[in-house]
Amino acid sequence: MNKDIVKNITVLYVEDEKDVREFTAKLLGSLVKKVYSAEDGLDGLKQFKENINDIDLIVSDINMPKMDGLKMCSLIKDINKNIPIVITSAHNDPHFLNKAIQIGISTYAMKPIDLYQLVESMIKAIEPIYLKNQLAQLKISLESRVDTEIQKIKSILDAQDNIIILSNKETINIVNKRFLEFFKVDSIEEFINSYNSIFDLFIKEYGFISKDILSKNDSYYEFIKNLAEVDSVIKIKNSQNEDRIFTINIDNYDESNDFYVVSLTDITEIKEKSNLLEYQASHDTLTGLFNRNKFNSLLGKEIRRSSRYRNNLSLILFDIDFFKIVNDEYGHQIGDEVLKEIAKLITQNVREHDTIVRWGGEEFLLLLPETDLKGASIVAEKIRITIYKQPLTKFKLNITASFGVSILKDDDTEESFISRSDEALYEAKETGRNKVVTK
Ligand code: GH3
Ligand code: MG
Ligand code: MG
Repeated sequence: MNKDIVKNITVLYVEDEKDVREFTAKLLGSLVKKVYSAEDGLDGLKQFKENINDIDLIVSDINMPKMDGLKMCSLIKDINKNIPIVITSAHNDPHFLNKAIQIGISTYAMKPIDLYQLVESMIKAIEPIYLKNQLAQLKISLESRVDTEIQKIKSILDAQDNIIILSNKETINIVNKRFLEFFKVDSIEEFINSYNSIFDLFIKEYGFISKDILSKNDSYYEFIKNLAEVDSVIKIKNSQNEDRIFTINIDNYDESNDFYVVSLTDITEIKEKSNLLEYQASHDTLTGLFNRNKFNSLLGKEIRRSSRYRNNLSLILFDIDFFKIVNDEYGHQIGDEVLKEIAKLITQNVREHDTIVRWGGEEFLLLLPETDLKGASIVAEKIRITIYKQPLTKFKLNITASFGVSILKDDDTEESFISRSDEALYEAKETGRNKVVTK
């Protein structure tokens, strides 16, 4: 760990829990030059404004009274878009990571705070700025290639965790150790022999910068330099052929605009975490189907869409018959197997645009766009027969289910739409089960 980097910085630490704040601030205090601590977002913002020329880095919690961490960070970024920020977060906060990337949060550290991890995150966040300052201090120009100066730069660069490239216009001059390791080459010459430029390596994929986008512009460097942080994201394969995701930061380090420092910060883990949290928040863990939460956020949109285009929208609600008996006789685990197998059977029987939801314990819901009542009852009937005919689990259980189907009407609300299917389902249960009722 390159402790020298943190030794000279001043940190604003924002945390609402008093014990955590005092404890962590004290530990941080022994590693960095100075720590300001604040007890909520509002306090943090105030202290930032008061000490604007002193603070090098923000470390902030997310959930706080008065003003939350992300709100505070976005206001601070409005004042100084380059200030590095480390967010400390607990597991159970699904949406924040994506938002955090948008605001331009540099890195994050998991809570409960592990000091080692926190310091590592701080180093990662501060590196590009530290580097820029170092280069400015050295006041070197690559044109005057004085060996000792080059050596000095090299050792600074090699200490960085980020991939760093120094280039003169489009020509790469110097790269750091991380660069060589990442691409598994021994020298920059070896790299240049295989690739024309780093831009050739950017994988073309939605949401990432690639050469297609760049080629519409005169200078790739200037184009990327002027992008918002949230858009400065690239994907490159490493020497093991694994996709890694980076934010790319480009800066000039002399007045002539000819020399660039390109710094790539690996955010693959943040991205994965963010995708995972998003997945967890919207899916049922047992069956992998959408959960109710996700459905609630989809239904309004689907209703508006179908009203706008005057398309049909149908809804099937169904519930396994006598499921309690399965659990009672074969155990909960076999009950779970039944649910999983049924989820699979449904998936095989609907179209790509249909939404399948685990609505409750043994209740499922299907939302079928552009489908009328007759079409929806045919789908329900198909699923009913599939479940009825397919012996489930190793015990070859004969399971049935009852279905309620409804179609969206002009004066429907989300609730009235669902409850019509619910009434139909109730009727199916009352009048013998293993059947489809439309309403
Ligand atoms: P009905 O035909 O009237 O729907 O009868 P039922 O037994 O299916 O209905 P009831 O609502 O009485 O019981 C539902 C059962 O589903 C009880 C509950 O333990 C079980 N269940 C709910 N969620 C799960 C789950 O995730 N796994 C398992 N194994 N069982 C579950
Ligand atoms: Mg049931
Ligand atoms: Mg039930």
